Amino acid sequence: MVRLMASKVRLFVDQPLDKGQSVLLNREQAHYLFGVMRLAQGAVLSLINSKDGEWDAEIVEAGKKAGVLICRAQTRPMQVPPDLWLLFAPIRKERTAFIVEKAVEMGAARICPVQTAFTQNAERLRHDKLRAHAIEAAEQCGGTFVPPVDDVAKLDRVLADWPDGRRLLFCDEALLDAPVSLPDLPGPWAVLIGPEGGFSETERAQLRALPFAHPVSLGPRILRADTAAVAALTIWQQALGDWS
Ligand code: SAM
Repeated sequence: MVRLMASKVRLFVDQPLDKGQSVLLNREQAHYLFGVMRLAQGAVLSLINSKDGEWDAEIVEAGKKAGVLICRAQTRPMQVPPDLWLLFAPIRKERTAFIVEKAVEMGAARICPVQTAFTQNAERLRHDKLRAHAIEAAEQCGGTFVPPVDDVAKLDRVLADWPDGRRLLFCDEALLDAPVSLPDLPGPWAVLIGPEGGFSETERAQLRALPFAHPVSLGPRILRADTAAVAALTIWQQALGDWS
């Protein structure tokens, strides 16, 4: 739940949005809109639900624990990002939150935490918190789409179930001296970022042997995993995504 600079409050709701549609607020949403943002009956805010675009909605009932909004007009159509998944090994809590936030801003279509050989703390990952970070990032960046956030899964399992036709941009820190270059191949992609400890030699050998994996360098310096995620999404969006 956020307010964009000099504009309306934006709120994600898990309910349909359409002309005249009423939207019921839960306790947390009512507290935020009426208690924190001090909005009152008659005020208009923006709603998104990741399905129906962005809508202006008017507050028709404002209570301490609940409220009702009515959708008035669509202000933006639904905009789904290119079919790019971000696979990343979770790192420390606040840095993992950063990766999720940036993945949404950069236009990832799905966020997939993966457990690799050197991943630490994967069992402490809070899926509900990551989902909340994704929602807040979409509200903040003016997007209409909130990418799904998967439960953490073992990397070898994810690779064993890999969908036909999807390519994998394997960001390999061992390629420091190689030029940064992406194959000009359209279609669905995923980016893979390792943990702070990098990939094990066994993982590297397995990944390099996969026909759908394209090992890539992110330049001549070792980037932190969170920086690497942003860098990889940037070069992909620039070369193959909706920035080009
Ligand atoms: N501990 C590893 C080392 O010293 O070689 C570095 C791991 S790095 C902090 C985390 C992840 O970011 C890597 O596994 C890789 O996916 C990505 N990464 C960082 N710098 C990179 C680079 N220059 N090229 C490709 N990938 C990079």
